[in-house]
Amino acid sequence: MSAEDDRPRDHDGCGDDHVITAGCPLDCLAPQLSAMAFGPLRHELPWLLKRPVTVGDVVQMYLRRQLKHVRHLGPRRIGEIELVLTLAGLIAPPYDPPGTAHASRLS
Ligand SMILES: [Zn+2]
Repeated sequence: MSAEDDRPRDHDGCGDDHVITAGCPLDCLAPQLSAMAFGPLRHELPWLLKRPVTVGDVVQMYLRRQLKHVRHLGPRRIGEIELVLTLAGLIAPPYDPPGTAHASRLS
């Protein structure tokens, strides 16, 4: 009996250094987030979505500004999630890097 081909098609496990993609299960974010930020996602999203949650679902909810509707997630936790998604390259940085805010490119 061989288990070689039993791995999920789009995900071959979560090593310490593996790249987080939108196809990863939510659990892949666990090492990246504090328990205060990850806990509400893990408890509320499967219930809200009625199916297993992926990292892509979190990205979509972030982009639609729906994370604030998740119970126990405040602006600070959402900011933490935003940072992790940004560092993973899943969303674009929401603001210009420091130092560019006053550059007047409109004139
Ligand atoms: Zn993963």
